[in-house]
Amino acid sequence: MTRIVVVGAGIGGLATAAVLARAGLDVTVLEAHVYPGGCAGTFYHRGYRFDAGATLAGGFYPGGPMAIVAQAAGIDSWPARPSDPAMTVHLPDGAVVTRYADEIRWEERRAAFGAEAESFWRWQEHTADALWDLALRLPAWPPQTPSEAAQLIRDGLSWLGSNLKAHLSPQLALDAFRPLSAHLRNASERLRLFVDAQLLIAAQTTSRYANALYGASALDLPRRGVAHLKGGMGAIGQTLADAVQQNGGKVHYRQQVNRIARSVQRGHPVAVETKRGDVFPADIVIVNLPPWNIAQLLGESAPRRLRYLSARPQDGWGAFTVYVGLDGAAVSADVPLHHQVIVREPMAEANTVFASISPAWDKERASKGRRALTLSTHTDLRAWWDLFESDRGAYEARKAAYTDRVLAAAEIALPGLRAAADLILPGTPLTFQRFTRRVGGWVGGFPQTNLFRTWGPRLASKLWMVGDSIFPGQSTAAVAMGGLRVARSVLAELGLTPNSSIQNMLEARVRADLTPSPSPGDDPSTPLRSAQGAVARRGECNSPSPEAFFSASGERAGG
Ligand SMILES: Cc1cc2nc3c(=O)[nH]c(=O)nc-3n(C[C@H](O)[C@H](O)[C@H](O)COP(=O)(O)OP(=O)(O)OC[C@H]3O[C@@H](n4cnc5c(N)ncnc54)[C@H](O)[C@@H]3O)c2cc1C
Repeated sequence: MTRIVVVGAGIGGLATAAVLARAGLDVTVLEAHVYPGGCAGTFYHRGYRFDAGATLAGGFYPGGPMAIVAQAAGIDSWPARPSDPAMTVHLPDGAVVTRYADEIRWEERRAAFGAEAESFWRWQEHTADALWDLALRLPAWPPQTPSEAAQLIRDGLSWLGSNLKAHLSPQLALDAFRPLSAHLRNASERLRLFVDAQLLIAAQTTSRYANALYGASALDLPRRGVAHLKGGMGAIGQTLADAVQQNGGKVHYRQQVNRIARSVQRGHPVAVETKRGDVFPADIVIVNLPPWNIAQLLGESAPRRLRYLSARPQDGWGAFTVYVGLDGAAVSADVPLHHQVIVREPMAEANTVFASISPAWDKERASKGRRALTLSTHTDLRAWWDLFESDRGAYEARKAAYTDRVLAAAEIALPGLRAAADLILPGTPLTFQRFTRRVGGWVGGFPQTNLFRTWGPRLASKLWMVGDSIFPGQSTAAVAMGGLRVARSVLAELGLTPNSSIQNMLEARVRADLTPSPSPGDDPSTPLRSAQGAVARRGECNSPSPEAFFSASGERAGG
């Protein structure tokens, strides 16, 4: 049987592994850390469970990315619960804009931008609706083989045909090549600032550089609904890791991969070696890491494109984080759980801060009466590394100064925060490198400036990359979709399913002992339902009870 080794138990690697294991392949995941999730992991510290990086979970709606992943991976339900509002954005002029999933309430709040902003929001929402429809067909972007190119054309034609009027638009074609700022020419300063801050977290760049199509879709995350995961974001990785094992695959923790060996004659990977000295023979290797890490693991045998990479990423970001344990009394019951605070421009570097508080109902996150808070800001990597290497005292001073500024920004959303804290734990890009092993602590993938700069997942014959360095980029939902795309391509190459449609992949069950998927139209209250069987209108939100978590098809995360 074909042996597949997946390096890294981030969300992208685990989604790929769970689907391939479900198809009956011999799948082994090797993870350096002691728990899954990587940048979307949740760690214990002094009685708190902190989300390490990602805090906002999107895609858990019927027919949405996480519903499709669940169906393909054989996951019955996610321990996720709808969360509305998605977030509150605090502008420097004191205005507060709440982003609701519920379209009617978001309508109310977008009054903050005036009637002249309506044409922008109409463009954004129509574009996002069209693009999400395309993205959920898992287009093989960029195509790397003639069969992927043919498939891309078929997917594109079926997408066009599904709504000719909306999809055959010259504006969509133009937007593939221009930045989102083309739609903000007459916008107020407040709208431009708001959009830039939201794009920074969703597309890793601002409107002047973000591709218009990508930006419109990324801005849609709150409208599509966000969710809380019981126990923290790490529950996504844990659910996927459990699925890998239930599907017959293996997940080994504390197994840091040191080297991927390739056959000199044929160029295929043949084995993966770990720091402990274990050797895992492999026919196919899928690496859930950025290109710089993969180049290190392959050394001299790296494909050309990897060998000529710069020593460190030239653009993109690191993260500065502060984890705070606090008295729950400082968080009033009506305060939303996610906040973006904009203090000033330029964006990033503690001038903008994202704050996420653990829900009061989630007893796994903190002891009674306490809450776990994750604060983060985008930061340039180079300054941290230069200081660390040249002047350790200055590095520590910078860390202390950033901690103060991040906490001061967070106080705008959560007054009294510092007085209520009994634990303040800062993390720099060096911390991220240490815990995720991503070179330099580079996180969030490539800024989405251009649809054509994106890396394809196939690095060489039987050697694949998955995660936030491939299309569609960063976020737990995006890397999970990237994982499905890789799984589909691997299955097609093995001749296990034609590379023709997502449905073929969802139906790829080689092993005889797998439970058949439920039929569409099953009782919505039962946990097992297919994505197609889940029907929910936008804006319709099932009332969440503490025990009512999403079914695989998403009991719905909001709008
Ligand atoms: C501060 C911050 C905030 C974010 N906020 C959000 C958010 O709110 N919502 C959202 O959706 N996304 C958010 N993101 C982005 C999201 O977390 C990532 O895009 C996504 O989790 C990346 O997944 P990945 O599959 O690329 O793998 P990664 O998360 O990079 O995981 C890679 C895994 O590989 C393991 N590994 C590394 N080297 C080796 C080795 N040699 N051998 C074995 N294992 C190895 C690592 O330990 C890790 O588990 C945020 C990211 C950060 C950093």
